[in-house]
Amino acid sequence: MASVDEPLFTPAAANDASGARAQFQGKPPFESWGRYPVYDAKVVPLHWQTDFPRVIDGVHSGALPVGLGRSYGDVCLLKDGTLVQTTTMNRLLAFDAATGLLTAEAGISLAQILDFAVPRGFFLPVSPGTKYVTLGGAIANDIHGKNHHIAGTFGCHVPSFELVRSDGTRMICSSRENPDFYAATIGGLGLTGMITRAQLQLKPIVSRKIDYQGIQFRGIDEFLTLTGQSKNIEYTVSWVDVTSTGKNLARGIFMQGDHSHVPAPLGISKKPKLAFPIELPGFALNRYSVAAFNAFYFHKQVKCRVSKLQDYEPFFYPLDAVHKWNRMYGKRGLLQFQNVIPWEHAREGTEAILKEVAKSGLASFLAVLKAFGDVPSPGAMSFPKPGITLAMDFPIKPEKSFALFDRLARMTHEFGGRLYPAKDARMTATQFQAFYPQWERFKRYKDPAITSSFWERVTSPDGGAL
Ligand SMILES: Cc1cc2nc3c(=O)[nH]c(=O)nc-3n(C[C@H](O)[C@H](O)[C@H](O)COP(=O)(O)OP(=O)(O)OC[C@H]3O[C@@H](n4cnc5c(N)ncnc54)[C@H](O)[C@@H]3O)c2cc1C
Repeated sequence: MASVDEPLFTPAAANDASGARAQFQGKPPFESWGRYPVYDAKVVPLHWQTDFPRVIDGVHSGALPVGLGRSYGDVCLLKDGTLVQTTTMNRLLAFDAATGLLTAEAGISLAQILDFAVPRGFFLPVSPGTKYVTLGGAIANDIHGKNHHIAGTFGCHVPSFELVRSDGTRMICSSRENPDFYAATIGGLGLTGMITRAQLQLKPIVSRKIDYQGIQFRGIDEFLTLTGQSKNIEYTVSWVDVTSTGKNLARGIFMQGDHSHVPAPLGISKKPKLAFPIELPGFALNRYSVAAFNAFYFHKQVKCRVSKLQDYEPFFYPLDAVHKWNRMYGKRGLLQFQNVIPWEHAREGTEAILKEVAKSGLASFLAVLKAFGDVPSPGAMSFPKPGITLAMDFPIKPEKSFALFDRLARMTHEFGGRLYPAKDARMTATQFQAFYPQWERFKRYKDPAITSSFWERVTSPDGGAL
């Protein structure tokens, strides 16, 4: 195994493909993916693992570690504060080719890890819907992927990491060493300190290909039947049409796949070439244009069931093919709603929420349904729990979309579920504290110099409605 002190591999500017570096490097405002809210903040790049206390020394308005800003809301924002950005600290430090155990600095992106790992026959243990997120950001939100029912969250595959606190304390955190800080930091929204480097257990693959099947379904019951039948398939996720009602309510395409077992060449991915050219005007995405797109998307798959061998890029990261696709939502930006409803009320709760969305006349064409499994997360504040998760993007139309989000958050609470902080820009303090009652205990591990606009909102004393 190579030494942890000497970089093994300094990735070429793989982030440049996402446009992310150009967007953020020292150029405020730092935007989250939803581009709402927008706050002024100072952005300071972090170059070296021990620099965190130094770069925030004398900062009185609070500091926050950030990665690539791929969270949708305000967990990666700090109004009038200092954002310490890690993307300049992205060296790969060690790799054991026999076991797939990798050690890297926290600002490395999953895209950079894939460029290194895939040609060597390894893949990420858990992957979100974009590869342009950092290792540190993936741990801090304890992200989940299409294999949650089998692999659990990202944190399940991070045996240890280093945490640097604002007072200069450095600690290695694992289930054995500093286990409380390990649990608080996985899903800890960046609030416990700066993760400087981490180990990640990769999984072996023999091909870039995925054995894919797409299956049409109509309604939650058919979705649940397919979920039951695919328990042993590694990746499952569904696109759902949230504009249709009546007998078409919750029609969609159930997508499932496994890594191909047939050995085939493993190479580096080509960089995407398309970028969303303009900000669309606010009226471009309306219920009629989105309903037409959804009907087209559902019927584009002419047969009820299709099977094919597909490269992992379009299977895992179809949206990454177009840089800055969030500009499609115009200057006002977008809100994402993502909840999970536990199995006890998952069917009725998800159906009631889909009906509420259809009734509102607000259209989402990126709506995703997925069943979470019961692999426990090591993170104390992690979002996933067994049940159904529903994620939907909406253009921001303050008078309508905010009211809808407030109703959906209330319904989620009534059905015993919770919302995902990484996607949130709206939940009230009362709602957050009901969704995450462990927040009081978590507070003990928070670094006193670190905060975020999300944290200020969800711990604000005026509470807001449930
Ligand atoms: C198209 C798209 C698809 C997505 N799909 C999924 C999905 O399938 N599943 C899922 O779970 N999420 C998904 N996400 C959300 C995304 O994976 C998370 O928000 C992720 O945490 C973003 O990582 P980042 O590097 O951009 O971090 P940022 O958004 O910059 O920051 C996220 C959080 O991490 C903290 N943080 C960042 N770096 C560090 C560090 N070094 N030390 C301590 N704290 C740190 C920040 O303070 C903040 O709280 C998706 C996002 C997009 C845009």
